[in-house]
Amino acid sequence: MTKQTLVTGGAGFIGSHLVERLLAQGHAVTVVDNLATGRRENLAGVVDHPRLRFAPVDVRDFATLAPLMTGVDWVFHFAGLADIVPSIQSPLDYHTTNVDGCAYVAEAARLAGVKRVLYAASSTCYGLPDVVPTPETAAIRPMYPYALSKFMGEELLLAWHGIYGLPVLSLRMFNVYGPRSRTSGTYGAVFGVFLAQKLAGKPYTVVGDGTQTRDFTFVSDVVDAFLAAARSDLSGMALNVGSGGSYSINRLVELLGGEVVHVPKRPGEPDVTFADTRLIASRLGWQATVPFEAGVAQMLQHIEAWRSAPVWDPESVREATRDWHKYLSPRG
Ligand code: UDP
Repeated sequence: MTKQTLVTGGAGFIGSHLVERLLAQGHAVTVVDNLATGRRENLAGVVDHPRLRFAPVDVRDFATLAPLMTGVDWVFHFAGLADIVPSIQSPLDYHTTNVDGCAYVAEAARLAGVKRVLYAASSTCYGLPDVVPTPETAAIRPMYPYALSKFMGEELLLAWHGIYGLPVLSLRMFNVYGPRSRTSGTYGAVFGVFLAQKLAGKPYTVVGDGTQTRDFTFVSDVVDAFLAAARSDLSGMALNVGSGGSYSINRLVELLGGEVVHVPKRPGEPDVTFADTRLIASRLGWQATVPFEAGVAQMLQHIEAWRSAPVWDPESVREATRDWHKYLSPRG
């Protein structure tokens, strides 16, 4: 059945993939995006779609946001600021966008009687986990303002569930990658860094010895998880979204091919991220289907998108991560 849907952050990396899928499945989609980090080009394939409405709105602009939710069945809340270093440098921006933003979305959804709210939460809430694969019951240890803000947003939305009965499900995503992941701006996620280095014929800046592993989850699998969450009746909880595996940076280098140069390990970074996905499998019947090798092959097919991306080298990485080392190093 056709649903009225609203995707905040719908011009962003994951949001835009979700928008495409919702339209393909016959739903109507309102994209709410202030284009601070989202890009219109991400929606180039659907821009003229008759069931797409684009609202260039900041989620903190409650007066404009609230009426957009009238008649909406499903709200997917992806709008927010990402990245570690800028969150250390500008924590208040992260608080207002990622935490206050959730309050405005929650309240607008409540007032409009929205049927499902699906939140793009982050596995960074687990910090340096004691248990891997990491279940949802693991200790919450945000290591930097971005992680804290995403977790506080989750708490806020789940509180709206507890207090007002807003039907909220929070999906804690692990290292999502795929076409349209960020190609510009600050130093960040490993795929963008390495693909730009590959195009430029420069060595990959491998952190530490490269044996650390990440639960790299392909974006189409993440979209499947959000659709399963929207269709279910389950609410008031957080579920992990992971690939079912964990892959080393050295393995990624092997798949991409090329030379490496090593840069120092960063404080606050886990050696392993690996989701325990038994809960989402049992509650939503979802599991990832894209093998790491196939996902990396797709990234290579889209590598031209990183042609204009910044090419990092050990010196610029050192400069870009100065505040990271300064603030996140353990204090005696
Ligand atoms: N990484 C790397 N070189 C880089 C950037 C990242 O080796 O230039 C590694 C990093 O140490 C981590 C993995 O890639 O193990 C994923 O890093 P990303 O920042 O994408 O995600 P996160 O660390 O937040 O899981």
